[in-house]
Amino acid sequence: MSFADLGLSDETLRAVTEAGYTEPTPVQAAAIQPVLMMRDLIAIAQTGTGKTASFVLPMIDILAHGRARARMPRSLILEPTRELAAQVAENFEKYGKYHKLSMALLIGGVQMGDQVAALEKGVDVLIATPGRLMDLFQRGKILLTGCSMLVIDEADRMLDMGFIPDIEEICTKLPTSRQTLLFSATMPPPIKKLADKFLSNPKQIEV
Ligand code: AMP
Repeated sequence: MSFADLGLSDETLRAVTEAGYTEPTPVQAAAIQPVLMMRDLIAIAQTGTGKTASFVLPMIDILAHGRARARMPRSLILEPTRELAAQVAENFEKYGKYHKLSMALLIGGVQMGDQVAALEKGVDVLIATPGRLMDLFQRGKILLTGCSMLVIDEADRMLDMGFIPDIEEICTKLPTSRQTLLFSATMPPPIKKLADKFLSNPKQIEV
């Protein structure tokens, strides 16, 4: 299977080629089409398998084809650590270079001012750690009612770090009719429970 068979836009394929990728990794080959078709997804995949592109590439095309509602973020990617969030943001910029999409990176350890300014201007995608996102939410700086796509990445690490209650609360702030993707290296019972509660008829893949 090649990237060209997956249904991605020409612009996204160009960015993929420029990244030097010649063929999709197994998680990309299994995930990209169902995600483009708006399915929910549970993917059991480790870091290093190319899982970031498996959700960022179709997300870019879904957002590029949809219509932006003024100033409302349309997608939310949750990461357990600042470093992972920053890496995903870099990937988003690399893969999205031929689309006009905007993004805000909402992580702790940096001043909130710039993040709030970006939110006020309006962004398409939020890439966030749960702590900072909850903090901004509680200050009334974020509305998540336009987020029709949610990615919970590294769910088992979220569990180890005690973020599951935050994630459950964040899920309740998003519209119920949304697309939800969950990535985890393992599937311990609390993650299975989270998936049962917040995903709808998900496609399951394991690589
Ligand atoms: P990830 O598992 O998303 O952290 O990706 C691991 C590494 O694989 C990153 O450095 C990506 O740039 C790289 N990568 C992702 N997809 C591909 C691909 N299809 N071909 C070659 N490298 C890739």
